[in-house]
Amino acid sequence: MSHDTIASVNRELDEAALEALRSGLRGRLLGPADDGYGEARALWNGVIDRRPALIAQVADADDVAASVRFARDHDLTVTARGGGHGVAGNALTDGGLVVDFSLMKAVEVDAESRTARAGAGVTLGELDRATQEHGLAAPLGVVSQTGIAGLTLSGGIGWLRRKHGLAADNLVSLQVVTADGRVVSANESENPELFWALRGGGGSFGLVTSFEYRLHPVGPEVFVAFVLYPASRAGEVLRAVDAYTGSAPDEVAPVAFMGRVPHADAFPAEAHGEPYVAVAAVYAGDAEDGERKVAPLRDLGDPIVDLSGVLPYVEAQSLLDEDYPDGWHYYWKSANLAELSDGALESLVRSAETAPSHHSTIDVWFHGGALDRVDPSATAFGPRPAYLVGVEANWEPGQPDEGNIAWARKAIADLESYSSGGYLNFPGNFEEGESQLRASYGARNYERLRALKSELDPENLFAPLGGIASTVHS
Ligand SMILES: Cc1cc2nc3c(=O)[nH]c(=O)nc-3n(C[C@H](O)[C@H](O)[C@H](O)COP(=O)(O)OP(=O)(O)OC[C@H]3O[C@@H](n4cnc5c(N)ncnc54)[C@H](O)[C@@H]3O)c2cc1C
Repeated sequence: MSHDTIASVNRELDEAALEALRSGLRGRLLGPADDGYGEARALWNGVIDRRPALIAQVADADDVAASVRFARDHDLTVTARGGGHGVAGNALTDGGLVVDFSLMKAVEVDAESRTARAGAGVTLGELDRATQEHGLAAPLGVVSQTGIAGLTLSGGIGWLRRKHGLAADNLVSLQVVTADGRVVSANESENPELFWALRGGGGSFGLVTSFEYRLHPVGPEVFVAFVLYPASRAGEVLRAVDAYTGSAPDEVAPVAFMGRVPHADAFPAEAHGEPYVAVAAVYAGDAEDGERKVAPLRDLGDPIVDLSGVLPYVEAQSLLDEDYPDGWHYYWKSANLAELSDGALESLVRSAETAPSHHSTIDVWFHGGALDRVDPSATAFGPRPAYLVGVEANWEPGQPDEGNIAWARKAIADLESYSSGGYLNFPGNFEEGESQLRASYGARNYERLRALKSELDPENLFAPLGGIASTVHS
């Protein structure tokens, strides 16, 4: 970075110190005038348009520690960017320093101990491909371009959740850079309170440079259920999935979603644009058993299309990728439900009918299984609801933002009397308020997180946008 460029970043920054930071990094330091800055500040969610003062594309923990020390000395807010798929865009802040982990892509799999260590810039697809070479997998999410970092730190729910729990439940150890610039390990025996917080409490307690996961035998081929039914039967289909899940094996973790049939070759042309209710699940066991066990989800009668079949696990993990193009506009919210009452169900179906964008969906994640076997106080994640509703407003750039955002907010407001808290990886694009955080973590976990945040980051260096950090110093 030239001295001219440095000066244009922020005239108040000490140029000699900036130059020392740049020359000391193994990775790259980018300011607004540098090539690559525009690309580096682009996030998956095209609604987010923020201009950080500096983006440190770090290569190792020493780079992270140097960036943190620089930010502290120069009074810059620090945010972390893992896979850049955070829906609220909190990876960036105007005028702050972004520690961008996208160069940290190392994955080491130890097939014997069934563990894998992955750098904080790794995506789900990259980790899955490496672990599947050994017939193993870490429980992650359902879209392969998502980053492991943000997903795991706020929980991480995917097709394996009823069999093996959250991504966070499967953490063995983390390497973390603290707000005072130290590089530490967090696991059951070293910094156990930090380890507790990082399993669900989000990314504002320290910058995680690597994640070590416990792995499980999965695949390499799995049976995938994926059936679309007409939306006119939404209530009946959701009830049937609910009844099925109540006695289903833990290998099946269904998600039902309501949307409009995409204009894509995989779907019958006459159904394009029509409203549907879909049921999907990936059987986390033998593929032949899977076909038998998920049959009830496929036998609800008169589908629009049944796309179920045997797939390599890595392909199953990419099935939904194309529904989420980079740079489109997104606004997601969520609500935890203890039960799927008639009132809640009617509200969901009604909201789905009124979505202004054909790309939007309302999703119901059926939980239970391994999720229920973890004490809510064992990790920061807190209570694990029986159902998670995700309201996804997804629209093309150029379409008005307001109507889509208003739709998602109304859908969640309409559920208020049935719900308590939500999933903090599916937030709105604005801060979740204190009551939402308290309900999501549970009151005791919330207070414990606040106490730890005050102790570890008294100056609120990390991620003051959203999450626990926004309430600690208020
Ligand atoms: C298309 C799509 C599909 C999704 N599907 C699922 C799903 O199936 N299951 C699920 O559970 N979630 C899912 N999510 C939500 C996802 O878990 C969150 O959006 C998550 O924040 C993405 O992580 P990221 O690293 O890509 O994001 P980023 O935007 O890079 O980071 C998000 C936040 O995580 C924190 N963070 C990131 N890296 C670090 C780090 N190294 N150290 C400390 N803090 C860090 C920061 O607070 C940052 O603001 C999905 C999201 C998208 C966009």
